[in-house]
Amino acid sequence: MAANDRCLFCRIVSGDIPAKKVHEDDDVVAFQDINPQAPTHVLIIPRRHIPSLNDLTEADAATVGLTLVRVSEIARNLHLESDGYRVVVNNGEAAGQTVFHIHFHLIGGRNFGWPPG
Ligand code: 5GP
Ligand code: ZN
Repeated sequence: MAANDRCLFCRIVSGDIPAKKVHEDDDVVAFQDINPQAPTHVLIIPRRHIPSLNDLTEADAATVGLTLVRVSEIARNLHLESDGYRVVVNNGEAAGQTVFHIHFHLIGGRNFGWPPG
């Protein structure tokens, strides 16, 4: 079975499952989180299916690097850069990863505590 058939985020990338997309290009897609944890909560993902940080190799450097550049651009477009924002990757079940297609959470619009829960 192709990744596209079983992965929620691959299905959002393909348009099979609807999402409020805020950015789309050849390599990266960004969309509103369905259960936002802050006034702004956007998920930024590579189109290509990579399950988690555990799976990264040097061959993924350009893809992941570009995805992070898009995080920065989207934060700027949403006017988050002056107040600040948080970027989170939950990696693995103990960290709270529930969707195994690598994604950056971009969250902003409120203050955040540290350490995270
Ligand atoms: P994780 O827990 O893996 O770090 O993050 C997965 C995120 O995906 C969660 O914040 C969750 O709210 C979001 N999510 C889960 N299902 C959907 C969905 O069907 N559509 C959208 N837009 N977000 C989803
Ligand atoms: Zn996927």
